[in-house]
Amino acid sequence: MKNNIEAFMDLVKQRNGNEPEFLQAVEEVAETVIPYIVEHDIYYGKNILLRMVEPERVISFRVCWVDDEGEIQVNRGYRIQMNSAIGPYKGGLRFHPTVNQSILKFLAFEQVFKNSLTTLPMGGGKGGSDFDPKGKSDNEIMRFCHAFMGELFRHIGANTDIPAGDIGVGAREIGFLFGMYKKLRNEFTGVLTGKGLSWGGSLIRPEATGYGTVYFAQNMLEVKGDSFEGKEVVISGSGNVAQYAAEKSLQLGAKVLTLSDSSGYIYDEEGIDADKLKFVMHLKNEKRGRISEYIDQYPKAKFVKGETPWRVKCDIALPCATQNELNEEDAKTLVDNGCICVSEGANMPSTMEAVHVFHDAKILFAPGKASNAGGVATSGLEMTQNSLRYKWTRSEVDNKLKEIMSDIHQSCIEYGTEEDGYIDYVKGANIAGFVKVADAMLAQGIV
Ligand code: NDP
Repeated sequence: MKNNIEAFMDLVKQRNGNEPEFLQAVEEVAETVIPYIVEHDIYYGKNILLRMVEPERVISFRVCWVDDEGEIQVNRGYRIQMNSAIGPYKGGLRFHPTVNQSILKFLAFEQVFKNSLTTLPMGGGKGGSDFDPKGKSDNEIMRFCHAFMGELFRHIGANTDIPAGDIGVGAREIGFLFGMYKKLRNEFTGVLTGKGLSWGGSLIRPEATGYGTVYFAQNMLEVKGDSFEGKEVVISGSGNVAQYAAEKSLQLGAKVLTLSDSSGYIYDEEGIDADKLKFVMHLKNEKRGRISEYIDQYPKAKFVKGETPWRVKCDIALPCATQNELNEEDAKTLVDNGCICVSEGANMPSTMEAVHVFHDAKILFAPGKASNAGGVATSGLEMTQNSLRYKWTRSEVDNKLKEIMSDIHQSCIEYGTEEDGYIDYVKGANIAGFVKVADAMLAQGIV
């Protein structure tokens, strides 16, 4: 089996040698899916995984815009259309200076499995730009978004490819992107999700990824007869996913100890309660400030510069910032400190070595492609509402989200339960996601 995986990875490395994040995401899937393929004749010998790791289309383009000083700026834009076997491409746009083809291919590849797990008809894609929104004025953001859509519009559509937000792309950016798409195409369609409520957005979409991450953790804990009640929770990030993961943890009776951003983390021993979280939301979403400003408001809390929060003792860890933010050493520290559950809100926040530590310790561990699928699932619900020209209530969408997270959890149990009863959620999510896409690809022939 090891030879099969190594031979496959050698081939993928030859073609994508300079794309470390993409190779990491592929290897994690190959480790669990190749043994499954070998045992199942319908998939064996058809190069099905090799077909899946090759994007159907990679689009890269120039984005020129003018900053507030009148200087011409040049950025690079991308859209990776990874797999459309089960539906139109769907996945977010990331604006961050670290964005490159490797990162977007890893995200698009993960998205294929994630979208398959949601049970909704969505293929996988991802896009973005190396544009850095930090410190830019609203006008600069608008000019950039308009310039970006000036090229992207010809590659997307409500039945072709439906982007959404991700790091650096929130409600403000989606608004500017949608405005330019509408102008260029002269049509009002659900081509983007995460839209404002008055122009086609869905209730619960802003909350969905964070809430879903916590619902998934809740499902895992229930298997052990446990819950969030009274638990201490450590969260990284302070953006969209982290904020709503914190909100739902509080609603379920847990105590939230940390939040972070790329400059460091804050640790509030007394707990970040609902009022303090409201302050953080205003600070990050309206003022666009830094998490360190939390201690100006709440001086009893600590700000730890340049570090991640994994050394803080906790019962539950929710990594909600970015890829590879939790390494082997961090994982060992979490386990040694008694952490019983890790649910990934971000995409691939734990390194492969960290995941192995969690598995060896047999703690509950949910990979992002399962636990953060609530965001794209609710985007799928937004698309349905747009097609129906109808709007569901908050509780209708929230109930559907809960149901989807519970279904994903069940799929993981179906494909990931080991002989000793331990649930390997990575294996479960990878195989469950793979089966649906592979079956569709086989049915559609070699295209
Ligand atoms: P936001 O832009 O709203 O927030 C991102 C947060 O992560 C910020 O606190 C940011 O800090 C921090 N961060 C970003 N890059 C780094 C870095 N290199 N090191 C440390 N901290 C960093 O993004 P989201 O909350 O939307 O996304 C967070 C994660 O969740 C990403 O992995 C994304 O792919 C994933 N995700 C998001 C979904 C969604 O619906 N939004 C859906 C599914 C997954 P700073 O401000 O300093 O940059």
